[in-house]
Amino acid sequence: MAYRFRTGGADLPSRLTRVAQLLGRLPGVGEKTAMRFALFLATVDESTARDMGAEVGALRDYVRPCHLCGNIAESEAPGEPAMCTVCSDTRRDSSLLCVVARVQDLLAIERSGAMRGRYFVLGKLLSPLEGISADDLPLGQLRAKIRDPEAPVKEILVATPPSVDGEATALLLARELTPLGVRVTRIASGIPHGGDLEYADQVTLGRAIEGRKNL
Ligand SMILES: [Zn+2]
Repeated sequence: MAYRFRTGGADLPSRLTRVAQLLGRLPGVGEKTAMRFALFLATVDESTARDMGAEVGALRDYVRPCHLCGNIAESEAPGEPAMCTVCSDTRRDSSLLCVVARVQDLLAIERSGAMRGRYFVLGKLLSPLEGISADDLPLGQLRAKIRDPEAPVKEILVATPPSVDGEATALLLARELTPLGVRVTRIASGIPHGGDLEYADQVTLGRAIEGRKNL
């Protein structure tokens, strides 16, 4: 969205307005806050603004989804594949794979400390209303991971949110993956229907994982 930045007649430098418009694209940042941030960057000590600009650029060079699970990760060199800290941790149980919708959900589960296995980030949920069908989900990648001869998966823990789309996705995964000979489980209730894993407290989330049920 392009804000007009009401100034009461005084023309603002166009570069300042441009930065404010970009900052206004950040989640939760409105027009006034965006301009406050832009003015701050224009007047604060120079290194803060320059460091911020350089780090945002480097973020996109080095930080990207883990090529194994989709978690957020950092590569060694720009453009190279990245591996996350969970996938590079050899103490993790490769036979247990937790399937989540988004990276935020993975991070929430990690904070609960109840997951000793690895993850797979779907990136989206089945949603007839939004036109997202089974073909749009990375099921082929998930099947390949389950069949990995070096680290075969025995249990798939489906930790999609307890919403209509989350439940539909869980049922689809059970139907598609059970024939491969894996046990498909679902996090227990305790997280309110329509609730967000990201905002569930760590104890609730930990219990939901420990009390998982067969799907
Ligand atoms: Zn990973």
